[in-house]
Amino acid sequence: MRFLDINDFSRSEGESLPFDEPVDLSATEPAFTEVRITGKLRNVVGVMTFRATVSGTCVASCDRCLEDAVLPLEAELKTVLTLESSEDDSVTVENGKIDLEKTAYDALVLELPTKILCKEDCLGLCPSCGKNLNDGECGCSE
Ligand SMILES: [Zn+2]
Ligand SMILES: [Zn+2]
Repeated sequence: MRFLDINDFSRSEGESLPFDEPVDLSATEPAFTEVRITGKLRNVVGVMTFRATVSGTCVASCDRCLEDAVLPLEAELKTVLTLESSEDDSVTVENGKIDLEKTAYDALVLELPTKILCKEDCLGLCPSCGKNLNDGECGCSE
């Protein structure tokens, strides 16, 4: 599901609306897979609060050895919504609909590390022969 319609919910004071949706980001960013947004909307005296966890996996090439690095990502969102926006812009809302795809994408991008590594102690490639040193020494340094 891409959009969560909150028009009716905005008039349901005292209610809560749990959601748990898979999000397909393959068209936006194929590196993000297994994306899911889980959380709850609450309407307390007409004020809508939004809390959610966005989880997913990012597959990108390691900055050191160029092999695939698989990064589990998780973001927490907590904000107040109107039918047109969220207080901190973390959630994309338009015409009473939450855009789950854009919201999940924006949240996951913020969780990406500046340096992508397949493992913390990745040894990288030998600068002389290009061998992946995680697979063993190449002999250049001797
Ligand atoms: Zn690596
Ligand atoms: Zn070497």
